[in-house]
Amino acid sequence: MLTDNEILSRGKAAFLGLAIGDALGATTEFMNPREIAAQYKVHKKIRGGGWLGLKPGCVTDDTEMSVAMARAIIDAGDWNLPGIADNFVAWMRGKPIDIGSTCRKGIRNYMRQGVIEAPYNEWDAGNGGLMRMLPAALFSLGDDALMQRCVIEQSRITHNHPLSDSACITVGRMVHQAMFGADRFELHAITRDLVEQHPNFQFNNYKGNASGYVVDTLQTVFHYLFTTASFEECLVGVVNQGGDADTTGAIAGMIAGAFYGLDAIPERWVRKLNVEVRQEVLDLAERLVRLSPRMQSPLK
Ligand code: MN
Ligand code: MN
Repeated sequence: MLTDNEILSRGKAAFLGLAIGDALGATTEFMNPREIAAQYKVHKKIRGGGWLGLKPGCVTDDTEMSVAMARAIIDAGDWNLPGIADNFVAWMRGKPIDIGSTCRKGIRNYMRQGVIEAPYNEWDAGNGGLMRMLPAALFSLGDDALMQRCVIEQSRITHNHPLSDSACITVGRMVHQAMFGADRFELHAITRDLVEQHPNFQFNNYKGNASGYVVDTLQTVFHYLFTTASFEECLVGVVNQGGDADTTGAIAGMIAGAFYGLDAIPERWVRKLNVEVRQEVLDLAERLVRLSPRMQSPLK
């Protein structure tokens, strides 16, 4: 059994890992592995650039939407879906450096018509609901049913698709179990449940597709999570695969952060991450975990 302090620390590592994966991966987003190798040999520095021309250490929509959601939960002291949607609206109005088309459509529909659950759409199996689900997982730590409800509700503000729903639940469970000290075999067992339900997600024979399609995204994350032995190696593998690299980086960062812990995150990445972003994600992570059922009633 891990102590409360160790659990809090792993929650912080998950949010910090997300931001670092986003900042690192933004450089190689939409590139392919050959182009990345030609330009960087191996990309492993937080250096900004990429198609967005990002400043070194800055983050994109993956982290920004997560922060927007986390603030809404903290402000309410509870799960608050309208507050989350309102914060997404405010974020979009602030002209973010990047926003996915499905996210924009969903937020607009909420803004104009109050639609808080996007209608089912066969093209909504992108990774936009998954990339920002961490605050819902931290807030629901210790209650699997609450986690399922929260990760799906936040995702469906913009993405309504069974593959996205299942991906969110799977990553939510992996983050929870990693924060409780699960080993890699226990994490792998969680992925097997997903593959049983949706065989598309099978990643034994990874083909190198790293697009924004939620299946490609999770195959990439799982492949590198289970074929590497450190936070650093996992993230370097993922972002050098290119494609939707900031998002695969963010998702790998949250799971690997929770799994390997704060001390495993390379110091040079922590120092290079924008200092306001770093402080805010650490603070929000701690407050979310403190609100969770696990911390409110530790014996549950
Ligand atoms: Mn992004
Ligand atoms: Mn992306």
